[in-house]
Amino acid sequence: MPELPEIELLAEKLRQGCLNKPLESIAYHPGKRADALDDGPESLSVLKGAVLSDVARYGPFLFLEWGERILSLHLAGEAQVTLQRGKLDLPGGNYLLLRWQTGQQLLVAAPNLSSRVRLLDESASVDYLLKLGPDPLLDAHCADHLRTAMSRRRTAIRNLLLDESFVAGIGPVWCDEILFQSRVRPDIPVAELRPAERDRILKNVHRVLERAIRCQANPSLLPKTFLTRRKQEDGLCPVCATALTEMPVGGKTAICCARCQAGRTEALAEETSESQSEGLAEAKPDLMLAEIAQDGQEHGPDSPASTPDQETDAPGEPPRSAAPY
Ligand SMILES: [Zn+2]
Repeated sequence: MPELPEIELLAEKLRQGCLNKPLESIAYHPGKRADALDDGPESLSVLKGAVLSDVARYGPFLFLEWGERILSLHLAGEAQVTLQRGKLDLPGGNYLLLRWQTGQQLLVAAPNLSSRVRLLDESASVDYLLKLGPDPLLDAHCADHLRTAMSRRRTAIRNLLLDESFVAGIGPVWCDEILFQSRVRPDIPVAELRPAERDRILKNVHRVLERAIRCQANPSLLPKTFLTRRKQEDGLCPVCATALTEMPVGGKTAICCARCQAGRTEALAEETSESQSEGLAEAKPDLMLAEIAQDGQEHGPDSPASTPDQETDAPGEPPRSAAPY
């Protein structure tokens, strides 16, 4: 179940391993419904022998370019994605398998595969992309867009962050992390968020996703202050050591700390303190110092130690095209 960081990492691996390489074979088993692909599954056969000329991503969409043709893949939700060489166990259900002459293979399996795969050319409609919200890693003004859009929404904050029309590509794992890092309950209606809570969420959307990518989306490489890491290790909150809990929100299940993300009274006190000191670090000095110290212990191939302040001030990736197609 890839989310935005995992798909970004996949795109980078494809650029490194498959760019300018010809496709040896393609197998597409979409199931009974193949209507989303205008010309049916057989139309993908035109890609056999084609050379991968570029790889792009927007939100949960991956775009593989073969000259004038573009294969659009929607990879969020129930999709299972594998990129590897050698023997591959093919699923019994629907799948798409691309194999390059180098031996590299991309396998995408999903029950609703036909609605995820589109072969585009210059005349193809891309209306489905226009419905997406900004991409937090590609849109330099994403936080501004989200702040404006937030003011018009009434749903629970977790539902909003998972809404692709609001922001593209955030899945449940990194959504829970964003809300934990922001110390906000997942089920709080957006309209009830206090200004300081909104600010923290908007800051952490980029911070958490960017950190996830630097850590190869590997929970064990994340800072010890991350819920995603502790959820896998011992199921305890990294701040207060309380057992993490499941919370139903909008028909789905959020993972959170009922104590650290408790809510109103604590949030109000914190906001008051923040407004006086103009910074979370001063509002919760002990907590932030602990976080900085633990962040510094992080290690990994692409994850140099840094403090939250450095992350906040980092310019991030230069803005690319907001919508690739
Ligand atoms: Zn806690």
